[in-house]
Amino acid sequence: MTHPLRLTSARMIDGTGAPPLEDVSVVIENGRIGGIDSRGAPRDEDAAQIDLGGRTLMPGLVDAHVHVTAFDMPRALKGQEPIAPDVRHHLIAAGLERMLRMGITTVRDVGAFGDGLLHARQAVRLGAIPGPRVLACGRIVSATSAGGRHFDGMYREADGPDEVRKATREQFRRGADFIKLMTTGARSCELENSSPAQMTRAEIAAVVDEAHRMGYRVAAHCEGLDGTRLAIEEGVDTIEHGLELHRAPELLEELARSERVLVPTLSCFFNISENHASCWPGGLVELAERQLDEAHRTVEAASAAGVRLAMGFDSQPHGRSALELVRLCHAGLTPMEGIRAATATSAAACGLADHVGTIERGKAADLLVVDGDPLADPELLLDDERIWLVIQAGRPVAGTALESPLAGVGRGAPGLTADPVPALAGRPMSPTGLATDPRPRPPAGPTRGSAVPTSPP
Ligand SMILES: [Zn+2]
Repeated sequence: MTHPLRLTSARMIDGTGAPPLEDVSVVIENGRIGGIDSRGAPRDEDAAQIDLGGRTLMPGLVDAHVHVTAFDMPRALKGQEPIAPDVRHHLIAAGLERMLRMGITTVRDVGAFGDGLLHARQAVRLGAIPGPRVLACGRIVSATSAGGRHFDGMYREADGPDEVRKATREQFRRGADFIKLMTTGARSCELENSSPAQMTRAEIAAVVDEAHRMGYRVAAHCEGLDGTRLAIEEGVDTIEHGLELHRAPELLEELARSERVLVPTLSCFFNISENHASCWPGGLVELAERQLDEAHRTVEAASAAGVRLAMGFDSQPHGRSALELVRLCHAGLTPMEGIRAATATSAAACGLADHVGTIERGKAADLLVVDGDPLADPELLLDDERIWLVIQAGRPVAGTALESPLAGVGRGAPGLTADPVPALAGRPMSPTGLATDPRPRPPAGPTRGSAVPTSPP
């Protein structure tokens, strides 16, 4: 039993798509939303009070498609101390903290390298590190494929109905919250053709049968239409990417009829075709450009067909998930539809529609308070300074309201800053036994995330 908390003078967007309400008070009890009142309702004298001063109160954001561990490790220069592989765990924690700071209170991770993400999920639950609620899939179930080599440690390759069933059971054993499978190859792997179905109908059916019988939901990576069709026909719960669906109105109709969720992940196509084109082979950049166009057509067609769309950023850097919301709006959704996608519908994609994603009595109090009106300007959700308060399970955990007035001073790009003190400073002798020059040396060529390199004696 925790002390109740009362949020007053809120402009509330509840995540259901209903118009905003002015001057609302919300009472939080035991981590849940206990009541929603118009102004003047009887006050609970026991409740601590936070006056939102007319700021916008909305559900915490839910990112339905992330890869928390899929970041590039910092690289040491020649001669520098190599970056220890286990440093990865701290960077995973930093990414999760950053997400929470930006109002993302739940993420569904659809593929991680190794078990680091599962460990981070536990650390968040234990309160050891701040972060969103994490849903994990363990390994992605895939056919034996080039992608399995390319994404080494992220896939469980399996062939034939019996083996994919075993692979699915292994993910239950590992602690998965849901199952992810690859119906097609991945656009981001040069050796793969993402057009044909990569798993057979019988294999997909076996995964879905096993998962559903045991009470797990299934997410399917779908690029080419053949694999997408098999996923929809065999009862997969969420379609990831699904960019070719605009070519098959009957499949969009079926998704709408069955109220299943499509996660268009527009950002992943932008990511390759625009942001990082120089890092990718030309063929993959051209493919991403074509797919970006198709994904936009699909958002338009799916939206017109009444398919539920969720926000899945599927990109880096962590914390920028609302960029997908903004892009969905550029693709034709209204800001209110974008917010619903990023809250209620993403929660539905996670199977958490009864628990998070809207501001309703009885739901978990995962809330976000922003300075300004995200209906007029959704991009404010990307601005640290406008994220006023993040509340997780009823507890204020992040945002400018909790930071000192000096917290934002000198805040540059989030990330790592090189130490201006040279690596050998403080040591009486250099490694070769020569006395070091006591005068401070200017740092030379600092690199991200590693100590300043020293020049040889
Ligand atoms: Zn992905």
